[in-house]
Amino acid sequence: TYSLGAKISNWDEERSLWLSRNQDFPNIVNGKARILLVTGSPPSPCDNAIGDHYLLKSIKNKIDYCRIHGIEIVYNMAHLDKELAGYWAKLPLIRRLMLSHPEVEWIWWMDSDALFTDMVFEIPLSKYKDHNMVIHGYPDLLFNQKSWIALNTGSFLFRNCQWSLDLLDEWAPMGPKGPVREEAGKILTANLKGRPAFEADDQSALIYLLITKTEWMKKVFVENSYFLHGYWAGLVDRYEEMMEKYHPGLGDERWPFVTHFVGCKPCGSYGDYPVQRCLSSMERAFNFADNQVLKLYGFRHRGLLSPKIKRIRNETVTPLENVDQFDIRHSAQGTS
Ligand code: UDP
Ligand code: MN
Repeated sequence: TYSLGAKISNWDEERSLWLSRNQDFPNIVNGKARILLVTGSPPSPCDNAIGDHYLLKSIKNKIDYCRIHGIEIVYNMAHLDKELAGYWAKLPLIRRLMLSHPEVEWIWWMDSDALFTDMVFEIPLSKYKDHNMVIHGYPDLLFNQKSWIALNTGSFLFRNCQWSLDLLDEWAPMGPKGPVREEAGKILTANLKGRPAFEADDQSALIYLLITKTEWMKKVFVENSYFLHGYWAGLVDRYEEMMEKYHPGLGDERWPFVTHFVGCKPCGSYGDYPVQRCLSSMERAFNFADNQVLKLYGFRHRGLLSPKIKRIRNETVTPLENVDQFDIRHSAQGTS
C-alpha cells in the first residue's frame, strides 16, 4: 500500500536531541513557540489571469499577518509526490517540512483561498499544550452527524512530533490519484452525511479516520471559539456592520480571524458559486484586512470593493506617537 516515505518511529527523541545540539535554532523564541505557516498553489498558471491576481492578494495578506506576528512562511508550488496532487498535496509537504525544520514547533497549513481577516488576533497556543492538532469544527457534527463538513482542512495546525507523523501516515492512503482515490471516494460518500459523490478528498478522509479510530481524538483540539476557518458566505456581507460595532482582535463572528472561500475556484474552471460573486467577496475580505494593515501608515481603502486608498491622518512631525498607537505588534503583546 501507499506510504509517504520511510517509516520514522523515533522522531520525538531525534528532534529533541537535535534541538539540544542546535541551540541557535530554538523551537521557542522569546517565549513563543515557533510557527511555520504553509500555503501554496498549483505548479501551473490559473485558468484565468484574474485567479493568479487573487493568489497574489492572498499571499500578500498572509505575508502581512505573518510579519506582524513573527511567523515564518513557506509558499509551495511543487507537487512533492505526484500521486498526491491537488488538495492532497499538503500532506507530503507538511511531513517534509516537519522533518526538514526540526526547530519549528507548529506547522500551520492554510489554503490559498483563505484570508486572514483579523490582523490582530493570535492563536491561543497555551490552550493547546496537551494537543497535537488544532482544527476548526464542531464535535456534534463530527460524532453524532458524521457530517462531511464537521471539520475544515483549509486551516489547521500540527505539532512537529511523532504523533503527527503517525497521523499523516494513516491519513494519506486514500490519496493516491486514480483508482485508489476513486474507490475511497465511494466509501467516504457512503459513510459521511451530506457528501456528494466524488473522489476522496483530504477533508473527508480525515473526518472518516477520526470517527472510525476515535483514540486519535485525545490529541485533536476541535476549535470553534474563534474562526480558525470561517465560511465566507455568512461573513463577507457583514464586514461594514462589524466595523461599526466591533474591533479587530476578537477572531469570532464579531470579527472573523479567517475568511475561507470554500466552493469558490477563481484559479480553476469549476466552482459552486458564480465567479463574480466569489471575486467581489474576496476583494471585500482582502480590503477589510488590508485596512487593518494600512492603519499604521495612515491610510485606508476608499471602500471595501476599492483597491484605491485614502489618507486618514495628517502628516505629523511626531510620527512615533502613531507607532505607539497603531502598531499592532505593540497591542498584540501578551495575547498568547
Ligand atoms: N493546493 C496546492 N497545490 C495544488 C492544488 C491545491 O498547493 O496543486 C492547495 C491550495 O492552497 C488550495 C488547497 O491546496 O487552496 C486546497 O485545494 P482545493 O482543491 O480544495 O482548493 P481550494 O478550493 O481550497 O482553492
Ligand atoms: Mn479552500
